[in-house]
Amino acid sequence: MTVSAADPTTPTPSANTPAPDTVPIPPKRWQCCHCGGCGVDGYGETCRHCDGEGFC
Ligand SMILES: [Zn+2]
Ligand SMILES: [Zn+2]
Repeated sequence: MTVSAADPTTPTPSANTPAPDTVPIPPKRWQCCHCGGCGVDGYGETCRHCDGEGFC
């Protein structure tokens, strides 16, 4: 009985895959004009202009 030494399948490196053209971009919203989009005003409190949402 001859056992053929089967070569282990060499894993094909997927480093040659072309980068997708679509870049995930965060949804653009109206950045709050008061807190700048951080949702917190200069006093460290929840922005009352956007209620902490960061956009208005
Ligand atoms: Zn605002
Ligand atoms: Zn705000």
